[in-house]
Amino acid sequence: MIRYLFLTLLFFTHVQAEPLKNPEPIEFRLLMIIKPEMDLPDGRKGKISPSNIRRTKEAFEKTMPKIVGELTKGRVLLKNRIEISQHVLKKVGYDGQIVGSDDVPEDCEAFLGEGWYDGVIVYWPSDKHAYWTCGSEQIHGLRWSSVNVREDLDYHEDAVSGWIHEWLHQLEGHYFGELQIDGKLDLHGSDVFNYQVDEDKLPVWLAWYADYLNGQCRKRDDEGNTAEKDAKKVELFGLGERAWKEGNLRKGVRMKGTPPWLLEEKAQEKLPAAPVTREWKEAEGNRSLSASFISHDRTSTEVKLRRTGDGKILTLPITRLSTTDQDWIKQAEEAP
Ligand SMILES: [Zn+2]
Repeated sequence: MIRYLFLTLLFFTHVQAEPLKNPEPIEFRLLMIIKPEMDLPDGRKGKISPSNIRRTKEAFEKTMPKIVGELTKGRVLLKNRIEISQHVLKKVGYDGQIVGSDDVPEDCEAFLGEGWYDGVIVYWPSDKHAYWTCGSEQIHGLRWSSVNVREDLDYHEDAVSGWIHEWLHQLEGHYFGELQIDGKLDLHGSDVFNYQVDEDKLPVWLAWYADYLNGQCRKRDDEGNTAEKDAKKVELFGLGERAWKEGNLRKGVRMKGTPPWLLEEKAQEKLPAAPVTREWKEAEGNRSLSASFISHDRTSTEVKLRRTGDGKILTLPITRLSTTDQDWIKQAEEAP
């Protein structure tokens, strides 16, 4: 009996293996341009604090990809990057509501090239709520959103799910608008489908966004049941595989020049194993420091460095260091 059961189990694992194979995730690269300071002709002035910039960087580069990864069970991989503008924001389009590519030409020059990203979001110090995605043509044909500064930047908080919302408008415009794929639905149509806020143990509209991303939106009655009795006949709307098979938004756009993320990836490939003395750059400002790498406990957020010259051991929060340095540490940890 035992032997029989064992064989059955083996057989079961074998036949199950095929459909469980995960396809490669579809990758999107989003750039967020932070405009730390504004001085507008209409008199509006504003600044984003360094601590908010730090939290925004964490929220955009780590939290947002984590949430999207969870909502899509790893099918969608966001590789987000932050760039901090060196220029004061002096012009805001659409009645002072949306920062488009025309409003930030110096940043476009510094941070953008053809085929580098799938979309852009500008983060600016508006004192009013202003989450928008442009319908009009932007530089390099990029999909483009603009959002105001916020403090509720933590996991599952509203600011970040709002970024997901604006990014979904970018996808909506590309896949349903431009490519005209099946399953079209309005991102603002959650009420037609009878979705509620805070559903499925997910805060705000994340349950709707999950089904939208996965192409699993279905029309339900007030009890949450679909009209069709046969589950196989339920009509599903949204993105999902029918969108992903078309590739990401920069697919087919020839890359011109070398984006910083590619330079960093190439640099990482050539990294020597730690410990080594190198120049470390701060995440903000232009200060740098020559020191050798001692350790970074994977579970902690601090890094230990030995300063060149006096040999002093410095313990720093890892977020004080530039993205390149943080990536270098990650690489050093993974080196055999
Ligand atoms: Zn919207």
